[in-house]
Amino acid sequence: MSYDKNNIFAKILKGEANAEKVYENEHVLCFKDIFPKAKIHVLIIPKNQYSDIYEFSKNSSSKEKESIFSAFERLINIYKIEKSGCRIITNHGIDGRQEVPHLHFHLLAGQDIGRMTNN
Ligand code: 5GP
Repeated sequence: MSYDKNNIFAKILKGEANAEKVYENEHVLCFKDIFPKAKIHVLIIPKNQYSDIYEFSKNSSSKEKESIFSAFERLINIYKIEKSGCRIITNHGIDGRQEVPHLHFHLLAGQDIGRMTNN
């Protein structure tokens, strides 16, 4: 999937749109979801241009991959949810119902997140 440089997360990364930043490192930005689906709902995105998890898996460096997991760890610490837990998911493509075409992980926490799907 070719990368759409005008997507909303690209604008947030360029500082052209606002977001409530929670954490960042060299390769990753984390900010609150504008329409939270749980008490804690943070989006974790790579700073480089990857449209989805497949593109990222194929083309990102080891350092970028590591930085995503490092951000997960930091967020779990920031929100003190080491014991209570969370759900981290990413939607990809049509079947995954991905809406914003820049890879993002959702971290949902702060309450029982419920079953994984409606099925
Ligand atoms: P997707 O369905 O692509 O996995 O999730 C996209 C997410 O981005 C949704 O949860 C939606 O609420 C969030 N979102 C869409 N536009 C904005 C925005 O402008 N700012 C922030 N912070 N989140 C957004």
